[in-house]
Amino acid sequence: MNTPHHVIIAGAGPVGLLLACELALAKCSVLILEKSDDPHSLLKQLPFGIRGLNAPSIEALHRRGLLEEMEVPKRLQNPFTGTRTKQAGHFAGIQFEHDNIDTSGWPQGLPYSLLSEMAELEQVLTRRALSLGVEIRRGAGITDVAQDADGVSVTASMAGQQRTARAAWLVGCDGARSVVRKQGGFEFAGTEPEFTGYSAKVDLVDAELLARGRVVTERGMYFQSQPGYLNLQDFDGGAFHQTGEPVTRDHLQAVLRRISGVNVAIGALHVATTWTDRARQATSYRNGRILLAGDAAHIHAPLGGQGLNLGIGDAMNLGWKLAATIHNEAPDGLLDSYQAERHPVGVRVLDWSRAQVAVMRPTPEGRALNAIFRDLINTRHGATYFACRVWGLI
Ligand SMILES: Cc1cc2nc3c(=O)[nH]c(=O)nc-3n(C[C@H](O)[C@H](O)[C@H](O)COP(=O)(O)OP(=O)(O)OC[C@H]3O[C@@H](n4cnc5c(N)ncnc54)[C@H](O)[C@@H]3O)c2cc1C
Repeated sequence: MNTPHHVIIAGAGPVGLLLACELALAKCSVLILEKSDDPHSLLKQLPFGIRGLNAPSIEALHRRGLLEEMEVPKRLQNPFTGTRTKQAGHFAGIQFEHDNIDTSGWPQGLPYSLLSEMAELEQVLTRRALSLGVEIRRGAGITDVAQDADGVSVTASMAGQQRTARAAWLVGCDGARSVVRKQGGFEFAGTEPEFTGYSAKVDLVDAELLARGRVVTERGMYFQSQPGYLNLQDFDGGAFHQTGEPVTRDHLQAVLRRISGVNVAIGALHVATTWTDRARQATSYRNGRILLAGDAAHIHAPLGGQGLNLGIGDAMNLGWKLAATIHNEAPDGLLDSYQAERHPVGVRVLDWSRAQVAVMRPTPEGRALNAIFRDLINTRHGATYFACRVWGLI
């Protein structure tokens, strides 16, 4: 599997695909190795696959003519171009409302936030990447990486066989459990989880017993985004997620009852996944010829939807700099400015996520903080500040 590519990208998630497009646009040859055989997953489709795009991501996708290829954001309610909903977003489950946000003085034109679908975003990016000549090999899970002065050798397991590919550069966009990060000698520093989060599709017997909207309780939070689509946060120290055990109907029902304090019954469980608020970030985004971007470089709770936006920013920042380095057109230090510029943005997002966890903690201190944040978010200045942060405007 020897390849003449400039760059191997690990992972055909949204960040790996966008980075591949950026590199290919700048005339670099790119090979993506993707572990999964099949890009389709129920968890990438609405409503689980819903992903909020912030202002910088919207602008980046628009600049490349990709936003216009996406149908889901046009279909879903958009507060600034379509039907207005009262709720604009949330911090720690506390809603802020459009009517409270002062948008005077904000740049006009593109929307500040849009709802997208992970499945569609990946489809649009895959189509673009292929049209630009990117090679995507599916069913190729990277198991080992080794670099020397001239390039990087990547070993992947394909159809039960170990194959090796080589390129001048490797970028790990292989998600939260990145093999590239682990094999590439990166330090991943941060904080341990306080809760297990659940996303599940169920048949609820007494759905009307549950309150509407995001409900923060003395045990955690629950949210029914659509009938039968549940999001839960159980402050168990992340214990259940760490067991790796599958979510059963009985387990989910017990968690839902404990969090909601309501004797609601789950008739059937169709699909479920767990996640945590573990917040970690690579201390360096570059080790020689190996770089990291997206969830491979930083993980945190998906509260308030920031991870994809952070990864899109990484890809847009890294793409042209790596391309200029490959074509010997980069001034000294250009590639290292990727780390210098993007690492602090990651720090800020991880802290935003940690702050939400503190405000949701089912302790007397957490409840006291929650009451104060609720008051602040209900003011015009408060709602405007939280909207600016969530939508990436400050
Ligand atoms: C419930 C939930 C809601 C969210 N909501 C939002 C939101 O509203 N807004 C937002 O900005 N973010 C949100 N996020 C976060 C967002 O989904 C992630 O940050 C984003 O998907 C990261 O993209 P990525 O390409 O870096 O990683 P991933 O999407 O994880 O893609 C990584 C790819 O690498 C592949 N891979 C893994 N290991 C290997 C290997 N060894 N070899 C080769 N390939 C490999 C995987 O199969 C996968 O295709 C949410 C996350 C969750 C869980």
